[in-house]
Amino acid sequence: KVKVFSDANGGFKLVLLGDSGVGKSCIVLRFVRGQFDPTSKVTVGASFLSQTIALQDSTTVKFEIWDTAGQERYAALAPLYYRGAAVAVVVYDLTSPESFTKAQYWVKNELNGVVLSEYTGIPESIIFNADWGEYRTWSKELQKHGSPDIVMALVGNKADLLDRREIPAEEGIEYAEKNGMFYIETSAKTADNINQLFEEIAKRLPRPES
Ligand code: GDP
Ligand code: MG
Repeated sequence: KVKVFSDANGGFKLVLLGDSGVGKSCIVLRFVRGQFDPTSKVTVGASFLSQTIALQDSTTVKFEIWDTAGQERYAALAPLYYRGAAVAVVVYDLTSPESFTKAQYWVKNELNGVVLSEYTGIPESIIFNADWGEYRTWSKELQKHGSPDIVMALVGNKADLLDRREIPAEEGIEYAEKNGMFYIETSAKTADNINQLFEEIAKRLPRPES
């Protein structure tokens, strides 16, 4: 008999974070449907997808996967998005140093005027908007609203584009280790390490004693 582990609401809430275009939606689509579509505009929107993963020990872990509908472009993600998250998956594109820098903003609360002005992709007017204040304290919010033992993954995606790699694996590993995350490189395109990403997360989630 297979044991299914989930949180009280029926699935461990998993949120995807990272710059627009790094492949968050493609990772979800690959994991949930086993597909890769380079042209489709994949959007889960305000709701979420459920997916279970079977582990070697013949237990199963259920996820409630939240993907953004592109709000990451405009800075303010609603607290609803990350409230109660058991897992945060922070994604960057390993061919894009800019996306690696931005991934670190999601992990740490290091946003300040100087960094903000370099934060391309966010319209200047929004930087000084009240909404932006919410984004600034985002990672503090995550600690407040997420579960205390949140599992965090740092994902270097687009590993199939090896000849265009800009961020060496060592850099990702080092950053992840310093910040209590685990590191993995994936390709939503080839499916490389996509299941492993979710397996590693599942192994790290709290299990009831039995
Ligand atoms: P999001 O904005 O983070 O959700 O990014 P998307 O999932 O929409 O992907 C952005 C673009 O990157 C799309 O054109 C995808 O086809 C492409 N992409 C996503 N994952 C991969 C990957 O693993 N390898 C390659 N080569 N392209 C990818
Ligand atoms: Mg997306």
